[in-house]
Amino acid sequence: MEGALTARDRVGIQDFVLLDTHTSETAFLGNLKKRFSEDLIYTYIGTLLVSVNPYKELDIYSKKQMDIYMGVNFFELPPHIYALADNAYHTMMAEANNHFILISGESGAGKTEASKKILQYYAVSCPSTTLLDSVRDRMLVSNPVLEAFGNAKTLKNDNSSRFGKYMDIQFDIQGDAVGGHILSYLLEKSRVVHQNHGERNFHIFYQLVEGGEEDLLHQLGLESNCQHYSYLVQNECANVTSINDKNDWKTVRNALSVIDFDESDIQHLFGIIASVLHLGNVQFEADSKGYATLNKNTELRWVSTLLGINVQVLQEGLTYRKIEAKTDEVLSPFTVDHAIYARNALAKAIYGRTFTWLVNKINDSMENKEPSRKTVIGLLDIYGFEVFYVNSFEQFCINYCNEKLQQLFIQLTLKSEQEEYEAEGIGWEPVQFFNNKIICDLVEEKHLGIISVLDEECLRPGEATDFTFLEKLEEKMGSHPHFITSVNNTRGGECSEFAQLVLSIHCVCVCVCVCVYVCTQVMRQSKNAIVRECFASTESDSRRRPETVASQFKSSLLGLTDILMSKEPWYVRCLKSNESKQPGRFDDVLVRHQVKYLGLMEHLRVRRAGFAYRRRYELFLQRYKPLCPATWPHWRGVAAEGVEVLVQHLGYLPDEYKMGRTKIFIRHPRTLFATEDAFEVC
Ligand code: ADP
Ligand code: MG
Repeated sequence: MEGALTARDRVGIQDFVLLDTHTSETAFLGNLKKRFSEDLIYTYIGTLLVSVNPYKELDIYSKKQMDIYMGVNFFELPPHIYALADNAYHTMMAEANNHFILISGESGAGKTEASKKILQYYAVSCPSTTLLDSVRDRMLVSNPVLEAFGNAKTLKNDNSSRFGKYMDIQFDIQGDAVGGHILSYLLEKSRVVHQNHGERNFHIFYQLVEGGEEDLLHQLGLESNCQHYSYLVQNECANVTSINDKNDWKTVRNALSVIDFDESDIQHLFGIIASVLHLGNVQFEADSKGYATLNKNTELRWVSTLLGINVQVLQEGLTYRKIEAKTDEVLSPFTVDHAIYARNALAKAIYGRTFTWLVNKINDSMENKEPSRKTVIGLLDIYGFEVFYVNSFEQFCINYCNEKLQQLFIQLTLKSEQEEYEAEGIGWEPVQFFNNKIICDLVEEKHLGIISVLDEECLRPGEATDFTFLEKLEEKMGSHPHFITSVNNTRGGECSEFAQLVLSIHCVCVCVCVCVYVCTQVMRQSKNAIVRECFASTESDSRRRPETVASQFKSSLLGLTDILMSKEPWYVRCLKSNESKQPGRFDDVLVRHQVKYLGLMEHLRVRRAGFAYRRRYELFLQRYKPLCPATWPHWRGVAAEGVEVLVQHLGYLPDEYKMGRTKIFIRHPRTLFATEDAFEVC
């Protein structure tokens, strides 16, 4: 990384790499806090940007600010998300290669805001032609649409993204943003049918009900009142002061027409959203044998009308299980509990697949079909490590994802360090750090990892239980140094996620066998074009056993790692300043926790393992030449020689620095601090 110095004044140090007491977490936090109290929410660790959520509007995102950062060298201005965006862009243009910006942090830390700021920066600062404005508009408006369908109010964030998002922004050879492509990960479908206390369903439901025009609501059989829908009122928080559903509805409707949605798409799309609401109101009663029946089925009729599926078929699908025997099929009736489970599974499947369809549709509209050479900057907005008191299957997936990304960081950083040392002709020195590959293997290794064991257990529905799963894990990996459960936690390890993981196997098993019949076969008969497309058969799906959620997630993560591995990385780590969303409050314990789980100290150690600071000879000389009579006011020879004369004069010891082909490498920041102090005095 190219480094520059900052005065260590009241605003703290703007690059942690230059923090003297670098290994101390306390010094790290102190610096963050000091800067935060001055509304300086950004700090670097080399080229990584740390951002602390201020929970208030800061005047640092204006067009004027964008102009200031445009084309300026990374360390010449105070840390900013625009500096990072701009440098990724200019490096991409100069080197004609692909980049990605990984934005991580826990819910509410500011990831989505950061990714929007980067996108806006590109939209405003890149060269523009009117022809391309439409692509740019679509890229920008894809956000409110995806947020409507994929975000919800949670306890941690009123606009929490309930899916992981990777978006490629494609640039042509002139640097114009000419296309985009989105991949989504692990949408939290369970929210459609259940929300925790104080949380809401996905925004789009409230937007439609609150903001939908009278005609539209009439066609969809909806009342203009959220209280009417059981999927929306479980937690009595349909209305949230920070959210204006009526206005957001207008934004979304408008955005949909920008992204090429025609009237029939829109009809079908809202038909689906409405059908999910009606489905939630479908009630079952028990007959004399305890089996589920549907007496009053107005709601089901609406589902049937909106999805274009025969009401009888739908009813059968919700109240019977189809068992395929050798020659024919047998229908076995559901109990009320099972019927409710099937109904909810259907609602989740419809919503989840529609979300995927929506992403594809947005991708079609942002696609650039020109065969010309393009380079990309990928934006990854993904959940960071989560460690709660009780952790479930979701935390397992999220944390596994983060282990993979940490592994990627290690590989990419070490690779680029090594390459730079080689290019500069400096001997490579092994770096001391914790390589988390061993943890990734524990989760994902073929036939041996946790996911494999989980898959095997899912093959034994009815027999497998949480406990048999736990037993198998103990048997296979009980002696693994990083396998800790509440049962074998004699090592005093504090992460007991794995113990919590077992609680979720049950859901995985049941889900596979109950909803297959309702979800696919019935939905394929739909006259709603989107639903039909979403449930269209693929050649192998009837024969092959369904993939478990964990396996699917593993494959999509491996795909993502491949995509990222071939690109140059940039990192933004977002931190939450306090739990109560209060402006200006810095909760030390909370921030410390995140610094730990985001691996920031680890990151700093990897960054500083070799030479903490390096700078091109010309730039180094330019800045420090006043410190030596031989180089001031001009050094007339080769820059490298001037630097050598300069550092000799300053008394650098041979072990403190190395001279590369184009750069000077300095081992410790303190060496540089001394130089910088001398510079300030002079
Ligand atoms: P995440 O995506 O990490 O869950 P968000 O990006 O949605 O979090 O941010 C949560 C909320 O925090 C936002 O709605 C906004 O109110 C506030 N916030 C985040 N980043 C900033 C910022 N840079 N400036 C001001 N407020 C912010
Ligand atoms: Mg988000």
